[in-house]
Amino acid sequence: MDILEAIEAYNNRNGVTLEFKALLSDMDGVLYNSMPFHAKAWAETMQAEGVECEAREFYAHEGRTGKGTINIYFNKYKNREATEEEIQRIYAEKARRFVECGEAHPMRGAQEALQMIKGAGKTIVLVTGSGQKSLLQKLTQHYPNIFTPQTMVTAYDVVKGKPNPEPYLMGLQKAGVRNFEAIVLENAPLGVEAGRAAGIFTIAVNTGPLAEEELYEAGADIVYPDVETFTQDIKKIL
Ligand code: CA
Repeated sequence: MDILEAIEAYNNRNGVTLEFKALLSDMDGVLYNSMPFHAKAWAETMQAEGVECEAREFYAHEGRTGKGTINIYFNKYKNREATEEEIQRIYAEKARRFVECGEAHPMRGAQEALQMIKGAGKTIVLVTGSGQKSLLQKLTQHYPNIFTPQTMVTAYDVVKGKPNPEPYLMGLQKAGVRNFEAIVLENAPLGVEAGRAAGIFTIAVNTGPLAEEELYEAGADIVYPDVETFTQDIKKIL
């Protein structure tokens, strides 16, 4: 399957004609090769809270807000929600451990991809569940002339977060387009679910340890093994 076939299937399913005007891009695992650091930082942080867990399982929560992830573990291991004070303390600790992991590098091929899409006149909006300031602040350095505060949806903007469609609906608003005029770029099942639920054509790049099927089952319209393969294929619609 290529992107033209995937778009035809999307059009038929939704009774629309996709007109690509805006890219709504996730951050971790798409723009940055940062997920191994997030997984390690989460596992160490939650272990220090007395939770038995390992790094790998945090890929299943990728896309959630920090509060959402913390409450899943609190409900499971402590039979209650975390307080606001606990959420702030634990998320700050996780963010600190993330920084200790070293500098997360841009995903290979992602800078070229965004420059090419921007160069073709498309609007680009960031849609992330992250509140990791150390990474959000690097965006304008690694992706110059792509992102401004007006074109970013982060953990500080959303209430529900992925897999709820809310962040991608906010992304549509910021881009000033309708759902059949945008494309979502994601790497995690919960993010794919959110894009699909917002009625947007949703592309997944499988940059993590998951099986491709998990991304299709979450609702991806097409899955690529990496950002470079995505870049080659999307040229067909620029
Ligand atoms: Ca992600």
